[in-house]
Amino acid sequence: MDHTEDILSGLNEEQLLAVTHTCGPLLIIAGAGTGKTTVITRRIAHLIQSGTDPGSILALTFTEKAAQEMEERVDRLVPYGYTNVHISTFHSFGDRVLRDNALSLGMVPDFRILSEAECIILLKEHLFDLPLEYYRPSGNPTRYLSSLVRFIGRLKDEDVSPEDYLNFCKRLEENRKDYIERFGDERTFEDYLSQQRELALTYARYQELLTRYGYLDYGDQILLTLKLFRTRATVLRHYQRRFQHILADEFQDTNYAQFELLKLLAGGHRNITVVADDDQSIYKFRGAAVSNVINFQKVYPDCKLITLRTNYRSVQPILDSAYRLITHNNPERLEVKSGIDKRLISTVEPEGQWCGVQHIHFDTLAKEADFVAETIYERVRERRARFRDFAILVRANSDAEPYLRALEHWHIPYRFSGNQGLYLREEVRLLVSLLRAITDYSDNVSLFHLARSRVYGLGAGDLIECNTLSRRRHRPLFSILRDVAQGEVVLKVSEEGLLTIRRLVSDIERFGQMAMDEPAGRVLYTFLMDTGYLKGLMDEDSERAHEEIQNISRFFEIITHLEDTLHIKKAALIVEHLNLLMEAGDSPGTAEPDPDSDFVHVLTVHKAKGLEFAVVFMVGLVADRFPRRERKDAIEVPEELIKDILPSGDFHLQEERRLFYVGMTRAKEELFLTSASDYGGVRAKKVSRFVLEAVDKPKALSVKVHPLETLKVMAGGRSTEPLECTSPGNGPISLSYYQVDDYLTCPLKYKFVHILRIPLLPHHTIIYGKSVHDAISFFFRRRLEGYEPQEEEVLGVFRASWRGEGFVSKEHELMRFEEGIAGLKRFMERQSKGGIKPKVVERDFYVTLEDNILFRGRWDLIEERGEGAYIIDFKTSDVREQKKADRKTKESTQLLLYAFAYLRNFGELPAGCELHFFESGLIGRTSFDEKDMEKALSIIKGVAEGIKMEDFTPKPNYLNCNMCAFNSICSESGISSKSGTLRI
Ligand code: ATP
Ligand code: MG
Repeated sequence: MDHTEDILSGLNEEQLLAVTHTCGPLLIIAGAGTGKTTVITRRIAHLIQSGTDPGSILALTFTEKAAQEMEERVDRLVPYGYTNVHISTFHSFGDRVLRDNALSLGMVPDFRILSEAECIILLKEHLFDLPLEYYRPSGNPTRYLSSLVRFIGRLKDEDVSPEDYLNFCKRLEENRKDYIERFGDERTFEDYLSQQRELALTYARYQELLTRYGYLDYGDQILLTLKLFRTRATVLRHYQRRFQHILADEFQDTNYAQFELLKLLAGGHRNITVVADDDQSIYKFRGAAVSNVINFQKVYPDCKLITLRTNYRSVQPILDSAYRLITHNNPERLEVKSGIDKRLISTVEPEGQWCGVQHIHFDTLAKEADFVAETIYERVRERRARFRDFAILVRANSDAEPYLRALEHWHIPYRFSGNQGLYLREEVRLLVSLLRAITDYSDNVSLFHLARSRVYGLGAGDLIECNTLSRRRHRPLFSILRDVAQGEVVLKVSEEGLLTIRRLVSDIERFGQMAMDEPAGRVLYTFLMDTGYLKGLMDEDSERAHEEIQNISRFFEIITHLEDTLHIKKAALIVEHLNLLMEAGDSPGTAEPDPDSDFVHVLTVHKAKGLEFAVVFMVGLVADRFPRRERKDAIEVPEELIKDILPSGDFHLQEERRLFYVGMTRAKEELFLTSASDYGGVRAKKVSRFVLEAVDKPKALSVKVHPLETLKVMAGGRSTEPLECTSPGNGPISLSYYQVDDYLTCPLKYKFVHILRIPLLPHHTIIYGKSVHDAISFFFRRRLEGYEPQEEEVLGVFRASWRGEGFVSKEHELMRFEEGIAGLKRFMERQSKGGIKPKVVERDFYVTLEDNILFRGRWDLIEERGEGAYIIDFKTSDVREQKKADRKTKESTQLLLYAFAYLRNFGELPAGCELHFFESGLIGRTSFDEKDMEKALSIIKGVAEGIKMEDFTPKPNYLNCNMCAFNSICSESGISSKSGTLRI
C-alpha cells in the first residue's frame, strides 16, 4: 500500500510546503491550532517515506507526554519499516548523550539526576561549607536556598558557567568607575559587587558538590551536553552525522542553552525545522517571547519561512476573541515586529447550540463552581456531550479546590492533573503522617491525623480526651495514648476507642521499630498490607479508589528515588529528608489519568498547552488571580548575562496574557469565562482585565442566585444523581507485549498492574535483570555506533542501574552483584571474539491491527545474517541445559509476538529467533511459520477483546499464584499465603 497519500492527505497548501520541504533550515510561525505539531509529525513520516533513515531523525519536544504522543502518531503514519526516530525531550536527549559518553567527560556513568527540591537539600546539608554571607542571614540561614537553586537553574538556561559568572564579576571590577556612576554611589556598587562574587563562588562550589557526589541537576543535562559537544569535536561530529534532520516543536519556549544545542547538532547539514508561536510563549525567562524566532532568522538568514493561518480546532468567535485579547501585547509580537499576519481563519463549522465565548459573573465562588458543575451535568444528562469533552482550567493549583468539590457534589468524575498536589492528597498525607509519627513520637499533629484517619478512625470524643490531657501535662500525645493503652492512665474513653488506641499504639511501636532497619518503602508497604488499607481500596474497585492507589504508587516512586539518591535505606533517616523535600516546595503531580476513561479534565493552563477540548471553562477570572500578581525572584540574573532579546513594557503582564491566550485557544466549540465577586476577601474582586480585553462588549451575564437557593444546592436539594460514564467501548486500544503477557498469565494480575497500578516492592530478580539488561544494551548500542566499549564502561552502567533493594540479605545482594560482574566479564569475553553484530538495538515497534488495536513492544536486538534477520533476546533466568534452553525458546510467546511484529513491519518472517541465556551463555533457537503468525494474531486479538469487555476473571493456579507479587492481597489467589497450599 502506498502511504504517501495518507501522509499528505488533507494538508493545506502551506502545511504541504512545510511537510515536503527537502533540506535546509525551515521556520514555521503560526498561531494556535493551525497544525504545527501535525506538520512536525507528518514531516517526520514524509522524510521516512522518501527514503530517509528513520534513525537519522531527531525530534525534540517540550514535555515527556508530548514526546510520547508524537511517537505514537508517527508510528501510525509509518506502519512499515523500523520507526526508530529519536523523539524525546531536550533533557532526556542530553541525559542519553551524557550517559553514553560519561567516561570521556571524566564523569561517573552512574550519575543521578537531582530534582530542584533535592538540590535544595544538598545545599542545606552543606550550608556552612558554602561561601555565603549576605545570602545566609544568621537569623534565617536557609532563607535563600530555594532562590539560589532557581537562580543557578536560570544561569544554566542562559548557558552561563561558573567561570562565565566569575568573569562577569571581574568585568564589574575592571569597569568599576562606570558602574559606580551607573549605581549612583560607591557604597551601593561595592555591596552589589560583593553579592555577585558571593553568588559566583557559591555557584562554583555547588557544581563541585554535584561532581563530588556524582549528581547532575536538570540544567546540567543540557549544559554538560553542550560542553561535551564544544570540547570533543569527534563526539559532536558523530552526533551530527547520526542525526541528519533535527525538528523542534514549541520552539518559542526553547531556552538559550537548548537553542545552542540545536545549532551545534545542525551544524554541518543545517537541516533544522522548528515551529513556533510567540503568542504561546509561557516559559521563557523574563518573557522573551520573540527572541528565539528572531535569533533563528539571524542564525539562518536563508531559512524558509512558512506561516499557517488556517485553524482546524476552534469556531471563529473563539479565535476572534483570543485575537482581540492578544493584540493588547502589541508591539511586542512577531505580527508587528516581522509583519506576519497571524489572524486565524477557522475551518470548523459550528454545530448545534454552540455559543462561542461567554463571560458569566457570579456573586460568590460557590455559585460559580456550582454553575460549572451543573452545566457539565446537564449537558451529559441530555447526552449532548461526554465528561471527557470538558476541561476546567485554573491559573494556579491552589485555585482548583472549590471546583473539585462542586464536581464531587454533582457526582461528576474528574481528574485534577495539576503540576503539584500529590502531597495534598489524603491518601498520601496519611502515609506521610505515618512516617512522621513512627519516627518522631513528639509529632502530635501527625499522630492526631493518623488516629483520625480512615485506617484507625478513632472517635473525636476519645481523641479530644487524650489530647486535652496531653496538653495539660505537657506530654506528647503518643505517651498519653500509650499510658491509656496500657491502663496506666484511666480516661473516659469508649470501649471501642480503647481497642483502637491499643491497635494504634502497638502499630506505631512496631513500625517505629521497623523504621530503624528497613527502607521507608518496605515500612509503608507493610502498613498498607497489614492494616488492610490497600486491599480495601482494591475491593472497593471504584474510579476514586483506583486514583488513590495510583497516587500511593507515585509516592512510593518518590520515596524510592530519594532513598536511592541519598543512599539511605532506613525509614527513620529518610523522613527528615522527606520533610525537607516538602518544605523545599517539591510539588510532584498526581498520577496521570488513563486517557481512555471518561472524566472531566481539571488542569492548570500551563498543563493544557498543546491540548484541545470541546468545551473549556476558564474559571476564577478576577484581578490578582489572572493575571497573577508578579512575584520577583529573590535573586535576579544580571541583565548583562541574559542573552535573549528582552521585551519592553510590562513583561509579566504580557506573559500572563499569553497564558490566557493559550487557555482560550484550547476550546473547540465553547468557551466559558467565569468570575465571581466574592472569593473570601474583604473587598469585592474585580473582573480580570483579560476578560474585558477578550470579550468585545462585555455584557456579562450576571447570575444572582438567592442565598437560600445556594444552601439548598449544598444540602442536596437538587437532583445530582450520578450519571453513567461512557466506557471506552470501541475506542482504540494500545497493548504492549508485557500487557499481553500479564493478561495471559492472569487477567486479574493485568488489572492490578496496568489499570490499578498497585505499588510493588522491588524484587531482586527484577533489579538484577534490569542492571544486566542495561549494561548489555549499552554495549550493543555503542557497538552499533561503531565504538567498542571498554569493560569498565559496561560495568559502570551495570553499577549505575543497580539498586540494593528486594534482596534477601546484604550477603545475597553482594553475591548477586558479584555474579552480575562476573557474568558481564564472560559476556565481554565472548563478544570480543566476534559475537553479535546488531543491526538494531532496543527498538520500539508498533503494529496497527484491525479493530483499532495497536500492539507495541521493543526488540532487544536484531542481527542480519546470511539467511535473514534474527530476533535476539537476552534472559537472566537460570538455564544451564541446552534442552531446557531450546524448550524455553520454542515455547516463548514473547518471541512469537516479536516475530509477528517483524512480519507486520517488514512483510517477511524473520529467519529465526533466539534466547541468549546470560549466565550460562547458552543459546536457544527457533523459527516460526505463517501458521504461527495466525496464532499470534489471535492471541493479541483475544487479549484486546478481553480487556475491552473488562473481563478480569482470575486464573488461579499454584505456579502462577506462587510467583505473583499480589498473592497476599488477592482474594482469588490460588495459594493461601500462609500454608502455600492450593485452594481450588
Ligand atoms: P497548538 O498551537 O495548540 O500547539 P498546533 O498548531 O500544534 O496547536 P495541532 O495540534 O497540530 O495544532 O492541530 C490542531 C487540530 O487541528 C488537531 O486536532 C489536528 O488534528 C487538526 N488539524 C491540523 N491540520 C489539519 C488539516 N490539514 N486538516 C484537518 N485537521 C487538521
Ligand atoms: Mg502543537
